[in-house]
Amino acid sequence: MKVIVCIKQVPDTKGGVAFNPDGTLNRAAMLAIMNPDDKAGLEAALRLKDECGAEVTVLTMGLPKATDMLREAYAMGADKMILVTDRVLGGADTWATSSTIAAAIRNLEYDLIITGRQAIDGDTAQVGPQIAEHLGLPVISYTQNLKIEGDYAIVQRQFDDRYHVLKVKLPCLCTALAELNDPRYMTVGRIFDAFDEEVTTWGRANLPTLQDKDMGLAGSPTKIAKASDKVKKGKGTKVNLDAEASVAYLMEQLTSRHVI
Ligand SMILES: Cc1cc2nc3c(=O)[nH]c(=O)nc-3n(C[C@H](O)[C@H](O)[C@H](O)COP(=O)(O)OP(=O)(O)OC[C@H]3O[C@@H](n4cnc5c(N)ncnc54)[C@H](O)[C@@H]3O)c2cc1C
Repeated sequence: MKVIVCIKQVPDTKGGVAFNPDGTLNRAAMLAIMNPDDKAGLEAALRLKDECGAEVTVLTMGLPKATDMLREAYAMGADKMILVTDRVLGGADTWATSSTIAAAIRNLEYDLIITGRQAIDGDTAQVGPQIAEHLGLPVISYTQNLKIEGDYAIVQRQFDDRYHVLKVKLPCLCTALAELNDPRYMTVGRIFDAFDEEVTTWGRANLPTLQDKDMGLAGSPTKIAKASDKVKKGKGTKVNLDAEASVAYLMEQLTSRHVI
């Protein structure tokens, strides 16, 4: 069984977010980490490797520094690492990103593709389902549990406060939630091995099924019309009332604004 996990390097927002003077994200000032949903997706794939000997390939599209994250994935247990990088791919929106990743995946054999549900920087949750659409595969989003039985994936799909159980014929694509599992740590031996292992690097020339009209900035139908900081809220109103009068005041404010 062959599993491909799409992983994205994202800025770590835990320590706060740094901005450039023009309001864009200052990625250089923030630590880069593996997107949390993707790490859970990788762990799910590694459990399939433990259970049934699945071969796990991690694939990312990004800058050459994303090899650090690929090596982290290798040190956790992944078998193969692929970096898709090329200047002509820069400025990609989700359409161009998913078209490019799908073109890379067409070079590979697979039974199952796992992506994260959502990246913590771009936050659109579009790339996984778009890859599935490009490849003509069924997609199961919000995966909170995943098993393989013969030619089928048995997937628990989160749905509000309950879940659906879906039985889907392979090959298919699942988008993983961070709650799927607790990802394992890297092992010392594999950290050493990861630095000896070759990262397969593909550029535009290695993606024959990708069309020029679907890549990079020119192939991105999304245009950012305007970017701005959040509009600051007003100062608010301070009132000094006893408990009963406070409740009455609050109710009046909320009903007059049609909040309740
Ligand atoms: C006009 C425009 C220009 C942009 N230019 C740039 C740019 O120059 N550089 C830049 O970094 N971003 C750029 N972006 C942002 C970029 O489009 C998104 O980061 C990217 O498409 C992924 O979308 P997302 O972060 O919302 O991912 P989501 O859809 O939320 O991600 C879902 C899952 O898809 C997978 N995935 C997503 N992206 C990747 C990836 N790159 N590699 C592997 N797996 C992935 C992961 O498994 C992830 O968990 C641009 C966006 C726009 C609109």
